[in-house]
Amino acid sequence: GFRCGIVGLPNVGKSTIFNALTAAAIAAENYPFCTIEPNVGIVPVPDARLDQLAELVKTRNKVATQMEFVDIAGLVKGASQGEGLGNQFLGHIRQVDAILHVVRCFEDDNIVHVDGSIDPLRDVEVITTELILADLETVEKRLAKSRNQAKSGDKRLLAEAAFLERLQATLDQGKPARTVFPDNDQQRDLVRDLCLLTTKPVLYVANVDEGDLATGNRHVEQLGKVAAEEGASMVMIAGAIEQELSLLDREEQREFLAEMGMEEPGLHRLIKAGYALLGLITFFTVGEKETKAWTIKKGTKAPGAAGKIHSDFERGFIRAEVIAYDDYIACGSETVARDKGLMRSEGKEYVVADGDCILFRFNV
Ligand code: GDP
Repeated sequence: GFRCGIVGLPNVGKSTIFNALTAAAIAAENYPFCTIEPNVGIVPVPDARLDQLAELVKTRNKVATQMEFVDIAGLVKGASQGEGLGNQFLGHIRQVDAILHVVRCFEDDNIVHVDGSIDPLRDVEVITTELILADLETVEKRLAKSRNQAKSGDKRLLAEAAFLERLQATLDQGKPARTVFPDNDQQRDLVRDLCLLTTKPVLYVANVDEGDLATGNRHVEQLGKVAAEEGASMVMIAGAIEQELSLLDREEQREFLAEMGMEEPGLHRLIKAGYALLGLITFFTVGEKETKAWTIKKGTKAPGAAGKIHSDFERGFIRAEVIAYDDYIACGSETVARDKGLMRSEGKEYVVADGDCILFRFNV
């Protein structure tokens, strides 16, 4: 599965948001269990298209696609220098595919801020600095090794050392490694092998009080600027409200949302943003027995998508019969779409598009 790690300073609302995510997942249908470890939750990805398709074909079983969230607590100033715990948290971050960075944008005198005041710019810097310092250590270790080996005069190793120096210089300036773009495969492979923390995509989550949800506030504005400078996105969410919402049943939720003037829970926006951040798209298999959403990386070809369902589908792949989501809905059924010529027969090289409704043909 694909994993998003939730990071941020203590007391910014990470657990609140994580608990809301998992409580909502437990309440959703088709989820016998959602928590693998206490801090890891498997969450269904909300998708109105799946609901529409399921309703259209009156399916008996509707299955959403999922993604994993990990609550990574304990990241504080000095974590990268810590021998024990601090480093352990950084190790958890190493295992995720993307980072949700929760930043406190709510004022509340009853909830202590570790640095005494609300200041998103400073908070982001504290966390980012720890990640950068950890990466710097990784890069410097590897650089020492490369330089040593490059004494033989091997061109490849010299090139490796030169690239590592570029990474080192960038991190030294307090900039994340994702701002260094690899020029060739060797550099790309190296970056992948290093498992750096600051190459992972980041989504900023502005945690606000319910009263500020409609308008934002000056803290959110400041965080928005930070995000924009990095080319990152930001989602505003009222963590406390989301936790309350997640404990309600569907009907109560609807009423609560209407009262708040919200169209959907903020969590849905957060999950969808996380999904996009990971570069993931969804295709559907549609039928009376089961209608299901599947996750693939953007750019996956038809056989690879088939392999998500079953390895036999990939091995014996013949072709994919594809109807775009909008066409499926407009036609009202597979039969009509086929009659109108809107069911395309695609081969091995077809790159699956977001929203494709697919019927795979394969040999066994
Ligand atoms: P963590 O240390 O980042 O996991 O933070 P928690 O989720 O444990 O939250 C710390 C405290 O802030 C708890 O008492 C929460 O109830 C409270 N809290 C979380 N989100 C909000 C919010 O949006 N507004 C307010 N006023 N309090 C919040």
